[in-house]
Amino acid sequence: MLALHGAGVSDGIAIGKAFVLERELPPLPQYEIAKHAIDAEVARFRGAVDAARQQLASIRTHIPASAPAEAMSFIDTHLLILDDKMISEVPVEIIRHERRNAEWALRSQSDELVAMFERMDDVYLRNKKIDVNQVVERVLRNLLMETPEQHEALSAGGIVIAHDLTPADTVMLKHKRVRAFVTDMGGPISHTAILARSLGIPAVLSVHSATRFIRHGEDLIVDGKRGVLIIGPDTRTLQEYRRLKQRILERQRELNRLRRSPAITLDGKRISLFANIELPADVKAATQAGASGIGLYRTEFLFMNRVGSPSEEEQFRSYVKVVKAMPGKPVTIRTLDLGADKQVDGGRGDAPASLNPALGLRAVRLCLHDTALFRPQLRAILRASAFGRVRLMIPMLSSQDELFRVLDLIEEVKHELRREKQKFSRKLPIGGMIEVPAAAISADLFAPYLDFFSIGTNDLIQYTLAIDRVDDAVSYLYDPLHPSVLRLIRLTIEAGRRARIPVAMCGEMAGDPRYTRLLLGLGLNEFSMHPATLLAVKRIVRESSQKALAGSAARTLKLLTTRNVHAMVEKLNSGLDAH
Ligand code: PEP
Ligand code: MG
Repeated sequence: MLALHGAGVSDGIAIGKAFVLERELPPLPQYEIAKHAIDAEVARFRGAVDAARQQLASIRTHIPASAPAEAMSFIDTHLLILDDKMISEVPVEIIRHERRNAEWALRSQSDELVAMFERMDDVYLRNKKIDVNQVVERVLRNLLMETPEQHEALSAGGIVIAHDLTPADTVMLKHKRVRAFVTDMGGPISHTAILARSLGIPAVLSVHSATRFIRHGEDLIVDGKRGVLIIGPDTRTLQEYRRLKQRILERQRELNRLRRSPAITLDGKRISLFANIELPADVKAATQAGASGIGLYRTEFLFMNRVGSPSEEEQFRSYVKVVKAMPGKPVTIRTLDLGADKQVDGGRGDAPASLNPALGLRAVRLCLHDTALFRPQLRAILRASAFGRVRLMIPMLSSQDELFRVLDLIEEVKHELRREKQKFSRKLPIGGMIEVPAAAISADLFAPYLDFFSIGTNDLIQYTLAIDRVDDAVSYLYDPLHPSVLRLIRLTIEAGRRARIPVAMCGEMAGDPRYTRLLLGLGLNEFSMHPATLLAVKRIVRESSQKALAGSAARTLKLLTTRNVHAMVEKLNSGLDAH
């Protein structure tokens, strides 16, 4: 028995078998093809080459105009290599004449090509072997994708062990019955951690040596609360964890009784508890938890793991699905927040990464830069607004100019829709996310032009405390109770109150029951979170008086050190059942 420690980012206990996801190419299969199966094997090979071509073309369309010229020529080189007969035709001959499987045929051909480049005197040409290898690897990955064994292991409810999981990887795992995640890398507010919480499954990140110590099929226990991973547990430990799991289940059953109870404080304030969703399918969990609506729909997940962007029509259908599943309730559709760690291809594409992607062309900046990407989404959201209480929300606002440009674009799109006699709500509320310190500091300047604010604490903390969300080396600095963060939250709530617009919070802080009382005391009335945490927050709302908390919350803001703030918040929470 061996225990490893990491950051517990999603509560719960999982007991099951390890499924190790390999980032490296696995050993390539080698087998002979029966005569009658040759045509099918050739078709499989051509399919993988076509997919590679489409992937490269898609990466090409997403390269911003401001990127260095080499970025484009890099992709063009790969496209040329892919279309070269040596790569796209010779393996077909090998399959036909030597009856080898596609992977084997391609690898033996590429080995010869690489050897040929290595013999060249010209350094430039010699280095071309790197490009050849990258193109070949892309085709091989397409050939190996989703082998039946992988599919089976994941569907059987394995515990996924990976070096790192991008948000694109994680959202793909949503469709499988994965029991838990463990990764070598990652921090508590990375989107991978957020997705684990939204799946409601235990997760331990930044274990560092997980992929080194764990083998496929090994028995594991994952304790997502304590951040512990036990490899090969003995019978006593297993029994102990089974009991613990049972207790958690019982507590959850108790919480489920609150599903239909209103979220009203002891002093009679009605609090809105909204759900955060990533995909239309998540709406089910939101309604099951009794959410008052959707406070954050992260639409960028619709754009991931695919070739090309979804059309206006496809987006429209996805949004309408969510709206119809929430009749009479608000559905807050956030415009695209792509960039930083949320890359369409999971960051594995060949487009050069910017040096500081979190500070780069992300979210609304990317949308304003590439209006061909933005317009269809605006049209789809507006059209969906004819079917229910849609609210549109803009992420990562940092200047008023940016906001005005988006508002102008929305007006243009409305004009277009009117001309086309398409229906949309004339009163579609437009809100802004307050997640960049600049926006929080001047929230009063944004308020007159917006219908609501939503505080994105994940990014607000990242940018205020200068800690990269995905860098686990600095995740120890992540603290929602840092006095600077609390001041920015208060500033935003105050600006909203003065301008008489609602202020919500949709970052992870809103779904963490440890902060519910403090936030209520600061005057927050709308919380948006993963459905899995909604009832725990509701329980606290019902056991708290907002009026009584206001004084202590105000005093918290006068404290000089983070340690004192933590002590004060613990005092605020005393008397609550510790879960
Ligand atoms: C946030 O930043 O708090 C937020 C809700 O958005 P995301 O986590 O998707 O960046
Ligand atoms: Mg954000």
